[in-house]
Amino acid sequence: MKALVYTGTEEVIYRDEPKPSDPADGDVLLDIDACGLCGSDMHAYHGLDARRVPPLILGHEAVGVVQNGPRSGERVIVNPLISCGKCMDCIAGRSNLCADRELIGMRLAGAFAEHVVVPESNLLPMPEDMDIVKASLTEPAAVSLHSVAIAERVLHRPVSECRALVIGAGAIGVLAALVLQSKGCKDVYMGDTNALRRQTAEQNGFGHIYDPLTAEPAAGSFDLIIDAVGAGRSREAASRLVRPGGVICHAGLQDENPGLDTRRLTLQEVTFIGNYCYTVVDLMASIDAIHGGKLGKLDWIEQRPLADGASAFADVHTGNSQAPKIVLLP
Ligand SMILES: [Zn+2]
Ligand SMILES: [Zn+2]
Repeated sequence: MKALVYTGTEEVIYRDEPKPSDPADGDVLLDIDACGLCGSDMHAYHGLDARRVPPLILGHEAVGVVQNGPRSGERVIVNPLISCGKCMDCIAGRSNLCADRELIGMRLAGAFAEHVVVPESNLLPMPEDMDIVKASLTEPAAVSLHSVAIAERVLHRPVSECRALVIGAGAIGVLAALVLQSKGCKDVYMGDTNALRRQTAEQNGFGHIYDPLTAEPAAGSFDLIIDAVGAGRSREAASRLVRPGGVICHAGLQDENPGLDTRRLTLQEVTFIGNYCYTVVDLMASIDAIHGGKLGKLDWIEQRPLADGASAFADVHTGNSQAPKIVLLP
């Protein structure tokens, strides 16, 4: 089969790879229709993710058609997070915290390929009239829905009454802004240092857009901040911009540089929440939100053939991509 293989730092190659052998019991083989390029795939490409060791087929935001077993022929959305299903966290519905969790495209082969093997229990039904490219946004949108959901538990007022800031106008940031807007939040700000991404964000009405390098909203003015970058500089900005008693939801993993102002967070009783992936409930809510049009037209997604995947990685790497999300089609 054809696959896009991460072979080393800043290198992905479209080449022939062995087709996955007959799926084991409980697993299914999928014909991939579409798979989105994620910030975490870029992190691997930059050689910064110790968990993703080349050679590896990346990609986990997948939609495809089942090739074997009772659901053969069904088009499905993949929950790429594989968990044991038996531990306390899994039973409590928090499979994102399972100690045995695995993600396809991390250690297991991913979906930037014609086929992938996943457990049958990781298939989510896709509404028949759902567009496959939009459906491939289910996973990143679930991350954003999860961010807002966990923040809502500790916010002191409804999201609709909050002044919110999203740091980073990549897919997770953009989808977080859309989730906030869908919940009635009218005061959404979004900062990104990339001019092309700011332009897309402005054109699509993702909120009040600004360049953190040249301008910044007033310090201490946001009830909720979603840091979809996760860098020392974004943590520094979030620490400064959050309002007393406010919430910072940390959803990015860009670097581990210092930046969080724990003194201010303590003195102003700010809640800081780490955000990892999503639960199955978030994935189902994500399908519903995308399919029901709650996140808008989603016409800012760019599609490219998987064969041109190397150019997609290169364009995101150099900041030459205007689209918050590129979806690759085998
Ligand atoms: Zn992703
Ligand atoms: Zn578990």
